[in-house]
Amino acid sequence: MNISRQLSELHQRKHVLPAGNATAGLCLALKALGVEGKKVAIPASVCVNVPLAVLLSGNEPVFFDIDPKDFGISVEALRQSQERVDCVLAVHAYGSMCRIEELAALCKEKGLPLIEDFAVAQGARLQDRPAGSFGDASVVSFGAGKIVSCGGGAVLTDDKALFSELERHDGLLPDFTQEKHDGVGALMREFKISYNSWLGKDLNGFWKEFRRSALAAGPHFLHRYSPQWDAPIAAGLSGLDENLKGRARRAERLRRSLKSELIEAVAAPEGSVYWRFNLRVRRGRNELLKRLLRKKLPVSSWHAPADLFYRDRKERRTDLTRSDALGAELLNLWVDEAAGEDYLVSVSREINDFCSSLKQEVTP
Ligand SMILES: *Cc1c(COP(=O)(O)O)cnc(C)c1O
Repeated sequence: MNISRQLSELHQRKHVLPAGNATAGLCLALKALGVEGKKVAIPASVCVNVPLAVLLSGNEPVFFDIDPKDFGISVEALRQSQERVDCVLAVHAYGSMCRIEELAALCKEKGLPLIEDFAVAQGARLQDRPAGSFGDASVVSFGAGKIVSCGGGAVLTDDKALFSELERHDGLLPDFTQEKHDGVGALMREFKISYNSWLGKDLNGFWKEFRRSALAAGPHFLHRYSPQWDAPIAAGLSGLDENLKGRARRAERLRRSLKSELIEAVAAPEGSVYWRFNLRVRRGRNELLKRLLRKKLPVSSWHAPADLFYRDRKERRTDLTRSDALGAELLNLWVDEAAGEDYLVSVSREINDFCSSLKQEVTP
């Protein structure tokens, strides 16, 4: 079965366009919807690719605070905002189902197009409706670190005219090359290095440099799908249920081994999936993160509010208190296939030890 058919069945959509990656997919969706030179509402707690896609499509991102219960864009913040927006880009961040039905209703009421980004939430559901079935256009990624991870992405829609526009814009893009792949990799490495060196100081400190590099790297993202990803994506989609069950099993292991009132496992809404296992670390998150990385245990602290990497924080126009708090406390642990028994045991022990050493410091 080809991947368009598989995706169409999995996500209950009529039309599927395989794309070079999800960043390109988001650009294609915006262009095909006729959103250009406009303001696009996005949640602040996302990876840097989302605002980049908005910028590369000739639009301006407007960062909104998140709902602390599901980490999606806050429906209330959007409804009450004085800032006019022309499109909403909703993200199921961390595998967590955002309030996508309410967002769809709000967009309909205001006459705004809705793009659904389920790059890290493939397989998530709201009751019996799958993530990827809600947006005017919905975008998935098969890039590094996603639920199905091999390369490429896709844009899904039920609208035939929109699909033709998606195909037309995609047809204007160049083919995938190794050079483009390396260009994207270089930007992501640069981001990680800057992030790590500014973490705990002022993450806003490298925005000018990063924004310049990201915009310059734009052409590396904007390319077509490559058929070399057909077979691995098809296999990944066939094994999606097993993949998600394995993630849930490893997350449960972590939940049972982690014991401290200084940490809290993040609870996502029913129907969400485990992209990673997310902990809120009430004190000493940065120190704990660095300690785990020194011990070669892969963990991350995604996502600090993405506006920090694209503009001066002083120009902030909306309240981002909840995104800031999440960014300061979040620790993502690995639950994909690479997270073996050794990892789960070691990472839990290190975190428990760290927490009890912190507790002793404050106990008289
Ligand atoms: C990774 C990611 C993207 C970009 O995906 P690529 O395929 O790597 O371009 C977009 N949105 C979200 C929420 C992501 O996590």
